[in-house]
Amino acid sequence: MKQPASNLQIDSARLWDTIHETAKFGATPKGGVRRLTLGPEDKLVRDWFRGACEAAGLEVRVDTLGSMFGLRRGRNMTKPPIGLGSHLDTQPTGGKFDGVLGTLAALEVVRTLNDAGIETEVPICIVNWTNEEGSRFAPAMMASAAYVGDFTTDDILARKDAEGVTVAEALDRIGYCGKTVVGTQKFSGFVELHIEQGPILEAEGKTIGVVDSGQGVLWYDGKITGFESHAGSTPMALRRDALATLAEIVLAVEAIARKHSPNAVGTIGEAVIANPSRNVIPGEIAFTVDCRSADAAIMDALDKELRAAATEIAGRRKVDVTLDLVWRKPPTHFDARLVDAVENAAKSLGYSSRRITSGAGHDACNLNTVMPAAMVFVPCKDGVSHNELEDATQADCAAGANVLMHTVLALAGVAS
Ligand SMILES: [Zn+2]
Repeated sequence: MKQPASNLQIDSARLWDTIHETAKFGATPKGGVRRLTLGPEDKLVRDWFRGACEAAGLEVRVDTLGSMFGLRRGRNMTKPPIGLGSHLDTQPTGGKFDGVLGTLAALEVVRTLNDAGIETEVPICIVNWTNEEGSRFAPAMMASAAYVGDFTTDDILARKDAEGVTVAEALDRIGYCGKTVVGTQKFSGFVELHIEQGPILEAEGKTIGVVDSGQGVLWYDGKITGFESHAGSTPMALRRDALATLAEIVLAVEAIARKHSPNAVGTIGEAVIANPSRNVIPGEIAFTVDCRSADAAIMDALDKELRAAATEIAGRRKVDVTLDLVWRKPPTHFDARLVDAVENAAKSLGYSSRRITSGAGHDACNLNTVMPAAMVFVPCKDGVSHNELEDATQADCAAGANVLMHTVLALAGVAS
């Protein structure tokens, strides 16, 4: 039965059921999901997704990095489809919603349009991007990065996991090395629904985050070289202690990020003492730094201030500190027309909303460099993600899926 597209709502219970149905692929005892990319559980959820897409009448294609595309034809097939989707892989101790919500909501949008007998003017295409998480193979978001040309497909296919298995071998093992050349499935635009993975929407009691920007990233590999010597017989004034130096650098990173807060964050997440021993003053430490901001000028300032602090601390402590910038990703500014479309959809559906910056990286951030893209956020409990405790309400998931659907309808147009 046909109904006016403006009143259309997704089936909240059906969406909720599919989220829980697929959560059994890699379910953990604590209620989370362990579905490492291209592993056996990922194959199971991919098979399920392919079956569901085909049952919904979609033409499914898989590219040579395993990303899955389900095309729903539109009246005008000369235009590339509007893309919508996310990812189905998870962290080793991940949750049921990160990535899953955006992918299954895309499927729910198609099912709803099918049930309502609605044809869009422009086709739409739902997507499951391979390896968004980056926990088995680096880098994270590798398939969308290759899609936009940041890496060659061959480079990514040769990446190895901790066991030495390449992406190419892993794709082969689960039968998901497709034929579509990476980057050739074109889109007129892309919209990704995701849980916020932060506390802002929940704290403000807002249902929808209209994501207008994403943080840029600075990653450094750092090394401190001091001098190993006896913990008992080396006077304090004569030490060149690498760990005490690191302590100062950790606090400097914190102080610098706080100075630019709330528009910056800074973290030292890894530090390894070479040859650690209880009675030896640490002489060498390797560490990492992760700094992020959605403001390019602040990113420049973070870089400058971090380097200045490291130089000052190193000089005073008579040690060597090196900081190699290993990754610099500029901030994302999502397409203004698509961001407005998300905001209008939220407003016309009567949901409370606010503009928001994505703290985490997403496939949509990569895609935005070659096509108009935008994102929709919904709250998650206590802002927690990448954790088995990750949670979101059925009502918020449904609201996000409705905003996704009406954004896509506005962009693809309803054939009359
Ligand atoms: Zn995600």
